[in-house]
Amino acid sequence: MIRLYNTLTKTVDEFVPNVPGKVAMYTCGPTVYHYAHIGNLRSYICEDVLEKTLRYAGYDVKRVMNITDVGHLSDDADNGEDKMVKGAQREHKTVMEIAKFYTDAFFEDCRKLNIKRPDVVEPATSCIDEFINMISVLLEKGYAYRSGENVYFDTSKLDEYFVFGNQNEDEQMVGVRDDVTEDTNKRNKNDFVLWFTKSKFEDQALKWDSPWGVGYPGWHIECSCISMKHLGEYMDIHCGGVDNIFPHHTNEIAQSESYLGHKWCNWWFHVHHLNDREGKMSKSKGNILTVSVLEEKGYDPLAYRFFCLQSHYRKPLEFSYDALDNAVAAYDRLKNRVLAIAEEAVNAGKAVKTEDAHGGGHTYKASDGAADAAVFEQYKTKFIEALSADINTSMAITVLMETLKADTDAATKLALVSSFEEVLGLGLLTVKEEAGSGVDPEFEKYILEQIELRKAAKKEKNFAEADRIRAELLEKGIALEDTREGVKWHKA
Ligand code: AMP
Ligand code: ZN
Repeated sequence: MIRLYNTLTKTVDEFVPNVPGKVAMYTCGPTVYHYAHIGNLRSYICEDVLEKTLRYAGYDVKRVMNITDVGHLSDDADNGEDKMVKGAQREHKTVMEIAKFYTDAFFEDCRKLNIKRPDVVEPATSCIDEFINMISVLLEKGYAYRSGENVYFDTSKLDEYFVFGNQNEDEQMVGVRDDVTEDTNKRNKNDFVLWFTKSKFEDQALKWDSPWGVGYPGWHIECSCISMKHLGEYMDIHCGGVDNIFPHHTNEIAQSESYLGHKWCNWWFHVHHLNDREGKMSKSKGNILTVSVLEEKGYDPLAYRFFCLQSHYRKPLEFSYDALDNAVAAYDRLKNRVLAIAEEAVNAGKAVKTEDAHGGGHTYKASDGAADAAVFEQYKTKFIEALSADINTSMAITVLMETLKADTDAATKLALVSSFEEVLGLGLLTVKEEAGSGVDPEFEKYILEQIELRKAAKKEKNFAEADRIRAELLEKGIALEDTREGVKWHKA
């Protein structure tokens, strides 16, 4: 039994999916106008642990994620800045080039952080027909209206708009939007745009024909349509960071349930923010802290994952290098202890070293039947209990540490660590080897040259060029890793 907090009911309840044994799960994906910062990635790490916990508990999970590549304005009226257009202007590229580059960069960060790619990933720009259909139905049903050449959702038609309740309207407006500007086309303060045809962005790159004229969709509609396209009319869990509660998720519920005529999603899972000294880490503030920046400073991305899992997803997490250094020290101690136990099991003839599935290193596996079944069950149950208590990851790590001290043999401990790693994903059993194996010597020479060029670019602070080189190598199947000992490469 998994108990989960639900932002909708404000209680921790037993999780019960609509269809026994199956979970339909949706995650708001990144807005791909810039690198994801480590705050965004805190949300994705916690959602990854939720998904893996559900799988570990035996559920068949289908997880869908959108990629926001159109329509995300800094304000949900017609007067905010379009984040994608802003990104394209900044880098003198087209919006689609920006979207592709930062989508790839996002998944590369996820790979480094052991965040599983959702089963379905769909960019907003590939679902325009679905958006037009939903907006047409909302207009037909009287939930939407046309004004100032845009189409708006009419929040006055709902019995309850603030379904997440609790806060008053003014509080919800503050801290969510970068600026709050009046849109005189709206009938009610909280109405939001479903489709833009009249825009102040004359250079708006992406436009589509629609029954209401050439234009582009608002931001919120994409998550309603993309989730329904792949998960149907009933969803079990919808995830996002707490800043998505209002207005994004509030608006998703408004339009989805008005369209469907019934309740849409039962559970809302929200991850609290990673803050720095100035408050919430935010892409629009510029100067963002990314996984690459951490790597350049010599941090292993998985130590950052460990840092996140030491705290509860429903508490704000304060980032500082001191706090990260403490996590790194604990992570290194834990990993060294685990690897010593794994070696002990190998030496006892009860485990084998195998090539790491991702190449470039090795991992350990206890031999079949080598673990003490009773001890294995005892600790596995404790581990599941910790996670079932509203995804208590720090407690799950404590169980892992207790396991290492348990009165049992190394093979049993190793089997338990590998099992827990299915959820924790901390790379505790993976040892990266010096790169350089298994490629054509000419190609290896090319890789080393590119690494040198990238180093030179970084020295000149030309990070765009350094990132381009990294992305180009990745396209050729080679991943780079910035470590304390220098740049290493391996097959991606
Ligand atoms: P965005 O790319 O801005 O659309 O955001 C991607 C995800 O990151 C969303 O689920 C946001 O709610 C979440 N998010 C944004 N800022 C933070 C932060 N400082 N800490 C944790 N999650 C965040
Ligand atoms: Zn969304």
